[in-house]
Amino acid sequence: MIFTAAGTALREAERPATEPGPGQVRLNVQACAVCRTDLHIVDGELPDPKLPLVLGHQIVGLVSGLGDGTSRFSLGERVGVPWLGWTDGSCRFCRAGRENLCDRARFTGYQLDGGFAEETVADERYCLRLPEGYSDLEVAPLLCAGLIGYRSLVMTANAERLGLYGFGASAHIIAQVARWQTRRVFAFTRPGDTEGQRFALSLGAEWAGSSTESPPEELDAAIIFAPVGELVPVALAAVAKGGVVVCAGIHMSEIPSFSYDLLWGERVLRSVANLTRHDGEEFMQLAPKVPVRTQIREFRLEEANEALQHLRAGELHGAAVLKIG
Ligand SMILES: [Zn+2]
Ligand SMILES: [Zn+2]
Repeated sequence: MIFTAAGTALREAERPATEPGPGQVRLNVQACAVCRTDLHIVDGELPDPKLPLVLGHQIVGLVSGLGDGTSRFSLGERVGVPWLGWTDGSCRFCRAGRENLCDRARFTGYQLDGGFAEETVADERYCLRLPEGYSDLEVAPLLCAGLIGYRSLVMTANAERLGLYGFGASAHIIAQVARWQTRRVFAFTRPGDTEGQRFALSLGAEWAGSSTESPPEELDAAIIFAPVGELVPVALAAVAKGGVVVCAGIHMSEIPSFSYDLLWGERVLRSVANLTRHDGEEFMQLAPKVPVRTQIREFRLEEANEALQHLRAGELHGAAVLKIG
């Protein structure tokens, strides 16, 4: 069964092709984690999705078919399919090793059919080998929550006091990596989310509070995972001179205007966009060393819309994952 963004089963004629084309592998999907980006796509906040579309870009699958010219994987091997699904390899960004910014990139579960399905196909060059020692369900959230979070963390350079705004799937992974790197973690949740604050403390945050509160001391960097533009001036006000605020999401509500004082002092405000294959390979090697432990809430494929609703309501502590295989 294949579900569209609207939660309806696709008509037979609309079912995506699952014969692997040249360079593609076919996968029996075992698990697919749910991301805030899926919700932005459902809500029409990202332009021009492929329609009809199968969502899902944190796919764990077993190779069940090999297209012409494939050579990286063998039948039965477990692989991961992340958000970056294809690039042209020829634009000025690709040539400079910045394929995450490719002018013609195509993304899984957005311009390419994704993993909220029993089968999918993927270009083998963009698939990732997954660390052993994780179940299919546990490893799935590493594929976006983990590795986009990791790219955001890298953008904070060696910041010691790190603020995480929005303590969801990404932050719960990145808090563990940051603690392993001996950084100090300060977690900000929705006001009143004491359970989320306890969860952050249990993962090594030394302070957890509401996003409306000031941290007990200045921060050296902040990562904003929540898609809430109001948090930008809040986070800038919390970081010290020379600090960086990284916006990790693909979409954010309008950022209110703010006084230049908040940016003055060589504070930096930046976004993180997508991932490179190099990010993926690096993070998949790092995660078992920490070791990152993902907290997951399991849903069936048929419950994909419920999982998205829980995500919208901020009711998940950790990551929602669809168990499919
Ligand atoms: Zn390119
Ligand atoms: Zn994602």
